[in-house]
Amino acid sequence: MPILKKREIDNLEQMSGEELAAFLESLPLGRYDVEDLFDFLEFKLEREDCNHSLRFAMQYMMENRLNFPQTSAWLQQNGGYCDCKVLEQIAPAWRRTFDRFDE
Ligand SMILES: [Zn+2]
Repeated sequence: MPILKKREIDNLEQMSGEELAAFLESLPLGRYDVEDLFDFLEFKLEREDCNHSLRFAMQYMMENRLNFPQTSAWLQQNGGYCDCKVLEQIAPAWRRTFDRFDE
């Protein structure tokens, strides 16, 4: 049995395809919403500094009618306490995992 770390994002790279599918099912938003969110945050943070809140993430979720309370709770459980932390703590493992998954 693998030792499960507390944050889902830390387990992502060890998950099988089936586990990843179940993980995606459990999220309050779709895989491509998450990836678009990363792109949106990168675009915004190139122009403005992070103000240590999820303001751009919130803007994205409002514009795309996503569930902000559930999504921000998931981001924070995985270390994404503000816009720059989402990119730093969540985006790299996410991208490594799903780039491999697509191959
Ligand atoms: Zn920040």
